Amino acid sequence: MFERIGIGTGHCQFCGTYGPVAVLAADDPGVRPEVESCERCIRAAQKAADLLKVLRQAKAQPPKKIRNRAQSRASGPLPHPRPQDTTSLVPQEIS
Ligand SMILES: [Zn+2]
Repeated sequence: MFERIGIGTGHCQFCGTYGPVAVLAADDPGVRPEVESCERCIRAAQKAADLLKVLRQAKAQPPKKIRNRAQSRASGPLPHPRPQDTTSLVPQEIS
């Protein structure tokens, strides 16, 4: 991930437009050091991030929901039986 955001003037690396750009800078030598992008392209990147979020949530949610539904059905309290359908648990005296 980038570590700093600067503002400058230059060519957007995505669309080539010359003008104000945000400079996303990374200090890690293993990654591309700087990305310069115009406002329009950064807003488009936000939409890409939203799409990734939708995909991440879609991958994460279904198993969880199914499990929760199954658990709530299985562990939900059973209704009380009607009194006429039950017998006493107290042993009856044999007379
Ligand atoms: Zn651009």
